[in-house]
Amino acid sequence: DSRLTVDDLIAWLVRFDDEIVEQAGFLTELDSAIGDADHGTNMARGTAAVRVRLTETPSGDAGAVLKSVGMALVSTVGGASGSLYGTLFLEMAKSVGTASELDTAVFADAFRAGVAGVVARGRAEPGDKTMIDALQPSVEALSAAASDGVPLAESLQSAAAAAAAGRDATIPLVARKGRASYLGDRSADHLDPGATSAAILVQALADSHAE
Ligand code: ADP
Ligand code: MG
Ligand code: MG
Repeated sequence: DSRLTVDDLIAWLVRFDDEIVEQAGFLTELDSAIGDADHGTNMARGTAAVRVRLTETPSGDAGAVLKSVGMALVSTVGGASGSLYGTLFLEMAKSVGTASELDTAVFADAFRAGVAGVVARGRAEPGDKTMIDALQPSVEALSAAASDGVPLAESLQSAAAAAAAGRDATIPLVARKGRASYLGDRSADHLDPGATSAAILVQALADSHAE
């Protein structure tokens, strides 16, 4: 299918919750190395709340769905990542407005707006060893696919692959934002937890759409 429907967005976020539940222990382990050992529990609390909100209340248009995701994340995830993931979805919501179906280009623009919101709020640049290191290359891959006319499913797979590559590239980096930055050079040689959850987010979309 060449468009994301409201049901597709819901399927994405339900799958994200499934993946976060499965990987919460791993995310917390990553955060125990360079942070405060709570990223998995923070995210799992948030995605559980998102799932309840999306599956137990009537959905509305794409903007309304993305907005309720953002609000649920802001109010439940906590930590640095809560307001950042919340912003990602709230800005995506504003970008899509009242659309009920999103084609690749519209979704790519929304994703770009969401990530720009995260950058504006957290002031992290690529290379600072944060979720931006997964999100920004993913946005670029998705936009490139959209402008090349690549079909949606394939575009989402390339966005997911770029996020995964960006995640892996955080390993040697020294953190310049967030708690990990308190460690200075000792933050190097570790995968960033937020970049890891961000890669899970994009992979969940690609996988949910492939089915
Ligand atoms: P906390 O550090 O408050 O415990 P989490 O553990 O839930 O919050 O999330 C940590 C993750 O948040 C980091 O791995 C990093 O990817 C991300 N992060 C932290 N600060 C920023 C920032 N300023 N911009 C972007 N991402 C950030
Ligand atoms: Mg933490
Ligand atoms: Mg914390």
